[in-house]
Formats: sequence, C-alpha cells, structure tokens
Amino acid sequence: MRQAWHEQFCDSPDVLKSARRERTVIPVLDTVIGGNEFITMAGPCSVETEFQLLATARHIRRAGARVLRGGAFKPRSSPYAFQGHGAAGLQMLARAREESGLPIVTEVMSECDVPLVAEYADILQIGTRNMENYALLEAAARSGKPILLKRGMVATIADFLRSAQIILDNGNPNVILCERGIRTFETALRNTFDVAAIALLKQISHLPVIADPSHAAGCRSLVPTLARVAVAAGADGLLVEVHPNPEKAWSDADQTLDFAEFDEMMASLDPYLAIRSAQVKVGAGEAEPEWEAVG
Ligand code: PEP
Ligand code: MN
Repeated sequence: MRQAWHEQFCDSPDVLKSARRERTVIPVLDTVIGGNEFITMAGPCSVETEFQLLATARHIRRAGARVLRGGAFKPRSSPYAFQGHGAAGLQMLARAREESGLPIVTEVMSECDVPLVAEYADILQIGTRNMENYALLEAAARSGKPILLKRGMVATIADFLRSAQIILDNGNPNVILCERGIRTFETALRNTFDVAAIALLKQISHLPVIADPSHAAGCRSLVPTLARVAVAAGADGLLVEVHPNPEKAWSDADQTLDFAEFDEMMASLDPYLAIRSAQVKVGAGEAEPEWEAVG
C-alpha cells in the first residue's frame, strides 16, 4: 500500500511517510504541532486594532486555543479592499503574544517581506494564492520558521505536496499542511471542503495536517460542523476565524465566529476529541511509532 502511494507521489518523496519518519512534530514556543494534542489556531482574519486583537487573544486562550492567528499582510480578492496594516499589524501581534503567551501565525505574501514577518511570527503562513510562488516558498523556508502551507484553491494533492517538498528541499522540515477548501463546480459555498484530502494526507505524509473550516465554508453557520468533520478525518488541528464583532470585521465577516459561537464550537469538538485521543493511545500501544522530533 505504502509503495503504491510512493509511486503516485514520487515527485515529493521526503514529505511521504516512511519507516524512518512516521510523523513530524513541530515545537512552537511551549506548544507542539503534530503531536498527540489537537491544536486550535484562532483569531481574526485581519489584524484591525489593538483592542480587537487583545480581546480575541484573551478569549480564544481561555477557550482552549493554542495559537493566535491574524493577518497583517492581506491578499484580498479586490484591490480596493483593506490590504492589512503591514508592519504596524505585526507589532500588534507581538504585543498580543506578549500578553497572552500564545504563539503567532501570520501570512507572508512576498519574498521581500520574509525577514520582517519572520522577526515577529512564530509560524509563517503561505496563503492559498501563493502556494506555487516558489521564490516565496524558498525564502520562507530559509527563514527557519515553521511554515503553515495552505493548499492552493486549484491545487491537486500532488501539487500541494510538491510545494511542501520545496520547503523541505530548502532546509526546513517544519511544514504544516492546511486544507482550506478548493474551487470546484459547486458555487453554493465559498469553496469545497476536501475532507478526503485530510484523511489521505494523514495516511501518506508525516507532516501535520490542519483544517481551515472558515475559508472552506465561507459562512459561519457551517464552520463548527466542518471543524468536527476535520477532527473525525484525523486532522492535527484547526485554523478558525474569530472576532469580537464579526458583523463589523474588515475582512471575511461572513465566515467569522463571535466569541460565543467559538466557545460553542470548541465544546462541540469534545466528544470527537475524546475518540481521537483514545485512538492515539491505542495506536501507541500497538506499535511504538518512530518519532523524530525536529525543531
Ligand atoms: C486567511 O487565512 O485569512 C487567508 C487569506 O486564507 P487563504 O489563503 O486560505 O484564502
Ligand atoms: Mn480570511
């Protein structure tokens, strides 16, 4: 079985599981991604104000999230939409990390910005529109920071793994794969959540896989359901958009949860997470996985 996948994905050999490498575990401050704990990353789509960010950081931490997200450099579908605060947004993120202790994941859009963003971020996010921007992948890889790589909206799983391979080839083993929905003929939702991709990636790759139900759905009422499905599919974590007042969010308002909705979503994950941790324990008893801690 393993041999068959290796033949199909032979362009990206190093991201595939092997007897030598069953899983990649990525330490980020005092958190570990890809280990036994399910990691929720949450926060606003865009960093707007210090008040918005700090209130969100405090809330999500209390609710059990382990990483704060927020965009300072924003890739927007419209050139007239808010493009992010840039360096000022990074400073707000650093202040939120100082206060909350939560590590920061934030997007870097251009290879020129990598040194600046890497100075502030604990994890560099490469967005869906940049999954095949090889110059950016290389520069981000060489920063040495863990990379959260989002699947391109028209990328196959093989394309996705090839981009991850480029990061590994540039000396950075710490890649987190993120399924965030793809473009299909279906137009009812913003994207089509490819839950099978999560299950397959967990079978064939040693890299951590997280799900972004917010961009996959595009509407907040579906976010908790997709989050639960992601846990059931074997994801290592989530990336979720949360805002103190989503109706007023400067970007992605329709898909953003308010604090109460986030709490409800987190509570609804519990039974699924209990099954997951029972499976992790059973798995550990069956055969000792060969872990390779990197970082
Ligand atoms: C985001 O995380 O806010 C974002 C822009 O995501 P994506 O690149 O998946 O569209
Ligand atoms: Mn967004």
